[in-house]
Amino acid sequence: MVYLSNQIKPRTVLKNIEPYTPGKPIWELQQELNLDKVVKLASNENPFGPSPKGVEAISSQLAELNRYPDADTVEIKQAIATSLDVKQEQVIVTNGADELITLISEAFLEKDDEIIVPSPSFSEYDFGAHIMGATVVPVPFEEGFQFNVQKLVDAITERTKLLYLCSPNNPTGTYLSKADLDQLLQAVPKDVLVVLDGAYSHYATADDYTDGIEYVRENQPILVLQTFSKIYGLAGVRVGFGIAPKSIIQSILKVKEPFNVNSLAQAAAKAAIADEEHVQKSRKGNLAGCEQLYQAFQELNLDFTKTQSNFILVKLGPDAESTYNKLLEKGVIVRYGKGWGLPEYVRVSVGTKEENLFFIESLTSILDN
Ligand SMILES: *Cc1c(COP(=O)(O)O)cnc(C)c1O
Repeated sequence: MVYLSNQIKPRTVLKNIEPYTPGKPIWELQQELNLDKVVKLASNENPFGPSPKGVEAISSQLAELNRYPDADTVEIKQAIATSLDVKQEQVIVTNGADELITLISEAFLEKDDEIIVPSPSFSEYDFGAHIMGATVVPVPFEEGFQFNVQKLVDAITERTKLLYLCSPNNPTGTYLSKADLDQLLQAVPKDVLVVLDGAYSHYATADDYTDGIEYVRENQPILVLQTFSKIYGLAGVRVGFGIAPKSIIQSILKVKEPFNVNSLAQAAAKAAIADEEHVQKSRKGNLAGCEQLYQAFQELNLDFTKTQSNFILVKLGPDAESTYNKLLEKGVIVRYGKGWGLPEYVRVSVGTKEENLFFIESLTSILDN
């Protein structure tokens, strides 16, 4: 008997899906090149570690692992609602913000609908559109990777369903000002949902930055997405959340799996959101790291974009790919920009002072040769 498994046809829309390229894990590079020391500055993780309160909460939860987690994530919703001054019914908690992007896509996108994405940005928005057979309309950034509200508005058609705004934007570190968001929300038709991805909002320091939550409080058609993976340092347990007017949350709840957020993640997130000390320490360490890297880039005569986040986009020029590979050989993992259409750039996550120094020394020795 010959089995012809290649006659099992996947949905045709899967052809549009590009595999996600994660930052190379530390163990993989260590094994490949037999390196003692590897510094990973590729996934915008918190280099100062997880919230200690979050870790403690996980330990105290371990004996309960025989139980299913709370399907309604009540305690963590309460904690989020209190901390951000919104109503519990305006919150949805998910298995990382990545899951939320998929759920938003499943809840709102019909085949051939359009999503608008300032480009380049986070690739999960495209992924969510593609699995639903929807179309991605990229709107390139202006000079210096600045947002252009008018161009985003001009890109809206009858088919537009979602408009994504990542602010601060991954991978550029640039942000949308409050005045621009005001203008955009005025101009967007009422049947278009604006998704403001604030994965890095805790890092932003600009006076005219907004995390968008005030608009949810006013019941505007906006969904603010946040995560525990970045400043809270909990990327490994996977927990993120969305805040939006109740009717939007209710639609998304319809496509959610009941036990999407595991009990360790729920416990850790609840503790971490109250861990102000860890947030402050992370923010401060990040600002110092940004200054350290800016100064090094200036000394190396490299162009970079000032960031409102915990990563910096730096232009290495035509040799960027080989420099990226040489950094790997020295045990430094950064993210190469080609996938974003930026073949002359790399994105480096801000590490600890020592990690940044290792990166700077490695880069300097590569560029000197
Ligand atoms: C890291 C990141 C997320 C969310 O990550 P999760 O780990 O899935 O919560 C969302 N948006 C952007 C832009 C990110 O960089």
